[in-house]
Amino acid sequence: MRKKIVAGNWKMNNNINETKELIQGLKNEMEAVTLNNARVIIAPSFINLQQAVSETNDSVIEVSAQNLHQAKSGAYTGEVSADMLSSVGVKTVIIGHSERRAYFNETDDILSEKVNAAIENDFEIIFCFGEQLEDRETNNHFKVVESQLKNVLFSLPSSAFSKVVLAYEPVWAIGTGKTASADQAQEMHQFIRGLFVEAYSQELADSISILYGGSVKPGNAEEIFSKPDVDGGLIGGASLKAKDFSDIVKSI
Ligand code: PEP
Repeated sequence: MRKKIVAGNWKMNNNINETKELIQGLKNEMEAVTLNNARVIIAPSFINLQQAVSETNDSVIEVSAQNLHQAKSGAYTGEVSADMLSSVGVKTVIIGHSERRAYFNETDDILSEKVNAAIENDFEIIFCFGEQLEDRETNNHFKVVESQLKNVLFSLPSSAFSKVVLAYEPVWAIGTGKTASADQAQEMHQFIRGLFVEAYSQELADSISILYGGSVKPGNAEEIFSKPDVDGGLIGGASLKAKDFSDIVKSI
């Protein structure tokens, strides 16, 4: 049975003290939560990952990076490699977030290299993709999502997908307060699963967790998560408050 997952993308928020405080708050909140077949992941910034790993090692909370560089090592000023992440105990990484695509020019080719680097280093990948508002308004959203997946993921062998989580994040819903309706999320997730049936197999399609991301809040999480092809959420803004994030976790 595929896992349910609630993952918090902290983006460029929280210094070291705020990181410790938020993790402590989450641990307190999480004590009252029973996680049935569900995982909880947080993705602090690079500089706070080591601390986050040590603060969470006595809890159910897992730690992910928000990015990695595709090269093994070398003259890439300011970048962080898979090996560096592994060495501080991080084995999960978000790849393809729309902010990385938009502000850091991460193309499908670069994302393929990052995915390959992550796989070579035995990382779990949370792969993000999703259409722009214009794509949806012109009814191109299925085509865009299909090409994002085909260009980066569909050349991988089926064995790679045991370590891939998908995060459908319509760009128009990220940080905007506009959420896709639960029906829109379900429609797209079902479409995505269908693409995996065509490209691989029903078994693989049924085993892959597909998260929804885009203005998920305590007030809308339950309805979105109730849909059969929605296996959880990637949460931005609401992951920065312990109570909100754990209320979302309780909805899974
Ligand atoms: C995100 O950035 O992945 C995200 C879903 O953000 P928000 O929840 O703030 O829309």
